[in-house]
Amino acid sequence: MGRGFQGAVLRALGAKEHLATVTRIEWISSAVVRLDFTSETLLYPDGERPSAWIRAWFPDVDGGSKQYQRGYTLVDPDPAAGTFGIYFLVHQPAGPASNWAVHAAPGDELVMQRMGGDGWELDDPQPAGYLLVGDVASWPGICSIIAAAPPGVGVRAFLEYTHDDDPQLSIPDHPDLEVTWVPRRPDGRALVDALGDDDYRGWKSWVAAESTATRLVRAKLTGDHGHNKGTMHAQAYWIRGRAMGKQVEAEELAGVAEAEVAAAAEGAPAAAPAVPIDDGTSVLRPARPAFILSALIALVLAALAVVPLVLFAELARRLVDGADREQLVQVGVTGVIVLLVGTGLSAVLITVLHFYDQFFAAALRRRVMEKFTRLPLGWFLGRRSAEVRKLAQDDINSLHYLVTHAAVDLVTAVVTPLAILGYLFSVNWTLALILLVPVVVYLVLMIRLAAGDKPRLQRVLQWNATLPGDAERYIAGQPVSRVFGDQATVDLPGEVSALVGFLKQWQHDTIDRKAILIQLNRPMTSMVLVALAGTGLIVIGWMPAAAILPFLILGTSFGDRLLAASYAANGLREGMAAKAGLDLLLTTPELARPDAAVSPAVGATRAAVRFERVTFGYTAGRAVLSDFTLALPPGGTTAVVGPSGAGKSTVAALAARLWDPDAGAVTLDGTDLRLLDEQVLRRQIAVVLQDVQLVHGTVAENIALGMPGATREQIVDAARTAYIAEVIEGLADGYDTVIDRDSLSGGQRQRVAIARAILGDPRVVVLDEATAAADPDSEWEVRQGLTRLLEGRTVLVVAHRLHTVAQADLIVVLDDGRIAEQGTQPELLAAGGLYSRLHGRAMEALS
Ligand SMILES: Cc1cc2nc3c(=O)[nH]c(=O)nc-3n(C[C@H](O)[C@H](O)[C@H](O)COP(=O)(O)OP(=O)(O)OC[C@H]3O[C@@H](n4cnc5c(N)ncnc54)[C@H](O)[C@@H]3O)c2cc1C
Repeated sequence: MGRGFQGAVLRALGAKEHLATVTRIEWISSAVVRLDFTSETLLYPDGERPSAWIRAWFPDVDGGSKQYQRGYTLVDPDPAAGTFGIYFLVHQPAGPASNWAVHAAPGDELVMQRMGGDGWELDDPQPAGYLLVGDVASWPGICSIIAAAPPGVGVRAFLEYTHDDDPQLSIPDHPDLEVTWVPRRPDGRALVDALGDDDYRGWKSWVAAESTATRLVRAKLTGDHGHNKGTMHAQAYWIRGRAMGKQVEAEELAGVAEAEVAAAAEGAPAAAPAVPIDDGTSVLRPARPAFILSALIALVLAALAVVPLVLFAELARRLVDGADREQLVQVGVTGVIVLLVGTGLSAVLITVLHFYDQFFAAALRRRVMEKFTRLPLGWFLGRRSAEVRKLAQDDINSLHYLVTHAAVDLVTAVVTPLAILGYLFSVNWTLALILLVPVVVYLVLMIRLAAGDKPRLQRVLQWNATLPGDAERYIAGQPVSRVFGDQATVDLPGEVSALVGFLKQWQHDTIDRKAILIQLNRPMTSMVLVALAGTGLIVIGWMPAAAILPFLILGTSFGDRLLAASYAANGLREGMAAKAGLDLLLTTPELARPDAAVSPAVGATRAAVRFERVTFGYTAGRAVLSDFTLALPPGGTTAVVGPSGAGKSTVAALAARLWDPDAGAVTLDGTDLRLLDEQVLRRQIAVVLQDVQLVHGTVAENIALGMPGATREQIVDAARTAYIAEVIEGLADGYDTVIDRDSLSGGQRQRVAIARAILGDPRVVVLDEATAAADPDSEWEVRQGLTRLLEGRTVLVVAHRLHTVAQADLIVVLDDGRIAEQGTQPELLAAGGLYSRLHGRAMEALS
């Protein structure tokens, strides 16, 4: 039967075929069937590592001659008995593997091969923990790693599910295990969002999910947690919406298979419907035509660049051969003309590409800026400004090499040496072959050295990942280690000296081969080789004397030219890293935009803000608020209180539309905030948060940020009302003094923010009460400013100190994302519930 090119390659690489026979079949959930197999030769006699997998060949569903290869994880391998199991997740539309598993019967046979699926090595010594991320296809692999993890090391597993009963799939016990199941999300972000803000530096990670989900998790772990190839195994187990076999055939069999899958899983609970995915366009896609065109032109120019070199070599050869003057002049002049034309055209190409890059970067910058305006404000609050700046500036700049130089450099690095080699072969193939010897030896030594160094490189990568975390712990643990010694916390000096010793030993072990490599690649080596071998060939009459000249002119820099390709690869790597960051940004979910924005009925009425059955979580599967319903008294103050982590700040963030709810709605005068025009929304609802943002500009500009057309009189009025006028007048240029974040104290910044809010005359104010407590020196002024701001408006205040909320019209007590109780202070104290307990504790602390 046909296993195509892939099968032929596997056989050529020595992958043996093993026959496995089905012995038992068991459906364990609505979509997972376990098949037990026996095979005399498949399993390694010494046992299998966790997550080891095989490649199995599945027949064409239509009975055609083609077979399709798919990867599957070995479970419960018993080498002595030759038995093992495989859990098949049966999906829809079903491909050849799912379809086969649904129909399989005891006695059926499957051909399997082993190639590159030997599983994941658990470390000794152990890392800080194992982070396992995947979905039901990788659930068998994750289970095998959990089963192998020793006690005492933390294990966190994040699994994405599609079917309601997936989270019931069993997981081995482990004393330090935490498992989180999250529902699949259309944008592939369920897993990356579920990781949250926990610190995974110093952990080892195993990531095997759908390709988009894997890419997102890998980027987060690499970017935020310092994971790298040494500490992370990341592999896509499947690609959404893409059959591994031919698309037409998969589509044809989908209908039949769906019905059969349903029949076979009869009696099991119904499967949840699959959800479509929507990817953003890759940043480089618009540049693709320019990329291809420039590569083609570079191909012609690289070939043209060799012509003058060849002509000059010919000139030298003919000179020695005694060619007539006219012929020599002709060759020389042609060489010069071709050289000038080639150089000129190359300069034109690079100039045009630089112009193009300016357009490309400007368009991309616009795209990124527009994206920023569509992201939830909460996205920015969760990031450092340096991260945002890196995306908007540095990463776009890093694409310059990719757009302008990469195609030209790569094509030139490959075409030029090949063209030179072709010419040298035409002059004398024997000497050309000899010239190739150092290059081949160099490449072989290089590959062997790299292969031998791989474990040591991985060790260094692991050190890179764990040392920053250990350094932080070491510094934080100084008080302990001073008393009990470094070993009591982290033995950082010991680790550093181990690393230095390791690197020294590595240098020592490889220095001789590295020296040989450097020598092999030097022009002098090629020249000596050409001179010696060439002279020999001339002496024995295999080559005319003049033929040595092209080799001496062109052959000496041959090795260097070949290596230029690897230098180009470095620029490519940096550009690709920037591309990955930008691609991630552009695929980040945005705030919903109304088709036609509406304005709420602004009038004499006081603003009515309602939360209607709101559910929201920062990460999928972890709701911070669930089914939350609340009506703020119009024109009154609502204080939200509760233990830390109860969801108070989330209520404020949703009221200000820093985020959108996952379900339900927040309304202003009956209109969903998502339907409001952004400008209108910001005028109606003012937000005063703990961390006040000032922009680089004058004080007046900072106060008038939301109302750029405000007059100086209005600005001064607002500043007076906010009790900040005196401070401003005391500055060098008064309201025209240029300020930034560090120019004012915390309390002064807060009063600028209050003045800003007062100027906008909002109907709703969302306030983090910690604002009033942050700067004791100016607390009185801040409080007075706030009192003026809050008068007559609908106010939502996140209260951190209970004694400040006594006057609120409504106190809402939150506990674990739900309203535990609500009412006025006397009502709540009389009720004797959570509020009265919190109040009692607060009073005790004050007394
Ligand atoms: C190393 C490795 C180990 C693996 N181990 C297991 C394992 O133990 N058990 C297991 O069930 N899978 C495992 N997988 C995943 C499995 O190989 C793929 O899911 C495979 O594509 C299924 O083949 P198929 O012929 O049924 O579907 P295909 O012909 O590949 O695809 C048909 C349709 O199904 C969709 N599809 C494919 N896989 C999935 C999926 N996992 N979930 C939802 N939709 C999907 C495709 O997008 C496509 O639309 C492993 C993959 C790798 C690389």
